[in-house]
Amino acid sequence: MDGNQQVLPLAFAVVDEETYPSWKWFLQQLSRHVIRGRRGMCLISDRHVGLIKAVREGPDFVSPHGVHRYCLRHVCSNFNSTIKNVVLKDLCWQAGSEYQLRKFNRIMDEIKKQDVKAFAYLDAINKEKWTVSHDGGWRCGILTTNMSECINGVLKGARRLPVSALVEITLERTVHYFHVRAMKGQKMLQNNQLWTDFACKMFISWQQKAVEHTVTKYSHAQQSASVVTRRQGRHGMNTHVVKIANRECSCGKWNQFGIPCSHAQKVCGAYNISAASMVKDYYDVMAYNNTYSKHFEPVQSEDYWDDPNFQLVHDPTIRTVTRSWSKSNNTHS
Ligand SMILES: [Zn+2]
Repeated sequence: MDGNQQVLPLAFAVVDEETYPSWKWFLQQLSRHVIRGRRGMCLISDRHVGLIKAVREGPDFVSPHGVHRYCLRHVCSNFNSTIKNVVLKDLCWQAGSEYQLRKFNRIMDEIKKQDVKAFAYLDAINKEKWTVSHDGGWRCGILTTNMSECINGVLKGARRLPVSALVEITLERTVHYFHVRAMKGQKMLQNNQLWTDFACKMFISWQQKAVEHTVTKYSHAQQSASVVTRRQGRHGMNTHVVKIANRECSCGKWNQFGIPCSHAQKVCGAYNISAASMVKDYYDVMAYNNTYSKHFEPVQSEDYWDDPNFQLVHDPTIRTVTRSWSKSNNTHS
């Protein structure tokens, strides 16, 4: 994802089947050519058995280097296939998407009350992997793989083409996608925005909400405070604890989005600190523009493909996959 919470397409693979060896091969290529030792990566995916196995064997999405998280929509759908109850499915979604631990526990209690088996099913899945409240801020507020599936739209009509044409059209459409995003970034610059549209919108909406809070200062050293929200019908009158020095609020949203929540902004005001200076730098318009300013190299004839970096990994299981693929489709691998 980019700093505007949209897909940043970086790598594609054509494989004959979604299997453990093909996932392993893809993750190895990703590691070698895209991730290249970067740390702090979060992978969100469905719970395909082969993918989970391949992820565990690699260095990039395993603690402490990075993490693997599950798409909440897939978790809910798997849950419903077993439990077959739409009310519980809805509660499962609520539980997974809730930022606050306190509220998560309350929803899980409700699930337990309605169906012990359903509760046991969810309880058996590692909570770090499917709930935002236990995530620790890795997901950047992204619950599902829905957005990456918009790439299906980018590749619309291309799937039935021969592989070489499929590769060409994928590259062409990705270049176009980058071009459109680059124009968007230029527009943000012209508007004198500090941050991307997504971050601006979120920061401002929380800034407006902050007006409704009251704050009690606690520790100057830690710049901590408690914030009480205004009652609105059945909602509100909640107390949140903000620790500016730790960049955290008990509502869970600051940690998740890297943007000071309404409570944090209120406390910043009370301590005379700039909340804007604490917005994560990946939302900077300059960073966004830099992301989409990279050049694409036109693809030359296969005869010029002599880059040693593009040799396949020497793993017997992987070689089997690519060999059978090359033979059956008579294309480049
Ligand atoms: Zn908060």
